[in-house]
Parts: sequence; C-alpha cells; structure tokens
Amino acid sequence: MPLHTTHAIVIRSLNYGESDKIITFFTRDFGKLKGIAKGARRSKKRFQNVLGLFSHLRLIFFDREGMGLVRVESGDLLHIFPKIREDLKKIYCGNYYLELVNEMAGEREANPEAFDLLFSFLSDLDGMAPEEERLRMFEIRMLSLFGYRPHLIRCGLCKRDWEELKEIPAAFFSFEKGTLVCGRCAKNGEGLVPLSLGTARLIDQVSQMELAMLHRLRFTAQALAESRGLLPRFITHQLGKELKSLKGLRGILPFNSKFQNS
Ligand SMILES: [Zn+2]
Repeated sequence: MPLHTTHAIVIRSLNYGESDKIITFFTRDFGKLKGIAKGARRSKKRFQNVLGLFSHLRLIFFDREGMGLVRVESGDLLHIFPKIREDLKKIYCGNYYLELVNEMAGEREANPEAFDLLFSFLSDLDGMAPEEERLRMFEIRMLSLFGYRPHLIRCGLCKRDWEELKEIPAAFFSFEKGTLVCGRCAKNGEGLVPLSLGTARLIDQVSQMELAMLHRLRFTAQALAESRGLLPRFITHQLGKELKSLKGLRGILPFNSKFQNS
C-alpha cells in the first residue's frame, strides 16, 4: 500500500463512529484529500492537536486505491495558528477561508498556488487584526486560481474596454455572464450590481499581482463596498450555493467600531 507525505492544512473535521475522525485536508501535492484517522479520538497522543481545524502539518498517509478515503498514518504539526482560535472575528474569517477552499477545490486536483495562498492568508490572520480587504483579496485570488475569474477588462456585450468606456457614466457586473456590463448595454437591472471601472480595475489587478505586493494595496471605501456586494454573491452563483460561514461573517462586517474590541 503506497505511503505518501505532503504538506496539508485541515479544512474540515468530522467525528466518525466511536473513535475515528474523517478529516478533509487541503494538501500541497494532492489537492483536497479526505482521510480517516483511526482511533483519533481515543489516542490523543498519536494525533495531539494535529488534526484540529486550521492546523498545518506534514501529513503521512496510505492510499490504497488512489481514490476515496486515504488512511491517515501520522502527522507532524508545523503550525497551529493559535491566535485564530482565540478571537471570534478571526474564527469567522478563518472558517470562511477554509469553507471557500473546501467548496472550490476538486478532490485530488493539486493546486500548489492555492495551497500557498491559503497558508499565507492564515498566517496573516494569525498575526494581524482581520481586515476586510484581506477577505476580498482572498476571494479574488481563489476565484482566479480555481478557474472562476470574472471578466472585467471590457464590457462582456459590446466589448468596449476601460479606455473606451470612460465616457459612459455607469458600469455594472452581471452575475449571469460573469462579466462587466457597460451602462449602454445594461438594459434592465436584473442580475446586475453597480461596479465602477475603478473597482473593476482593482479586482483585476488583485487577481494577477504578486502575492508579496498584495500587502501594500489599499481599497477605497467605494471599492470595498462594491466588492463586498459583488464577490460573495458571485461565488454563490458559481458554486450554486451559499457558503454557510458567510452568515457569521456578515454579522461582523464591515469591521467597524461595533466589534473593534471583541
Ligand atoms: Zn457595453
């Protein structure tokens, strides 16, 4: 039975039977993997803290058939991101990151860039106060890495680009088409949300910018409001369902004074 090793982040954990756990990992080399950890709830020593949500570990597993559940042999804990677990706002953001990856990632489809992105955003969340900009950046990058990138460079109908659209006062985003729609082409408002060219340009920039450069980027209040109205809804549209963690997240957004000290 082949034995494998890979870096993994625990994105879901379920109790199974009397003593086992079924864990969903997002791994660097194998993409999303579901595995059974036999006796994980009984033998605390063997899997101590290793299989908690958010844990980053070196996972060792058996894969009998190259499909279905793998068998978790052991794991070396590398990062536990302890501060995420201590702060309600961080937990909401972190849960959203994990659920988004769980829903977008295909099983056993390696996506090392998405793994590195998740790791980087969990590290930031652990080390800094949560910022809504980071949430929006995470959504934009993951949409792009998993093949759902919205088309924002030109109007999806008349194909005019940003330069040509400058004269047209309003622009929108169409969830149905996944594209920018200019004010001239927008006949009725159904399935459309307002999207200024500035925000369209920003979102497009974020989707291709080097990860290290992202930290310096700032959203204007308008860009933040527009992307808040657009991105989660676009993700819902693409996945055909709303992420469960969105509800909790909505309750604390925007990150303003009300929850500043929580
Ligand atoms: Zn148009």
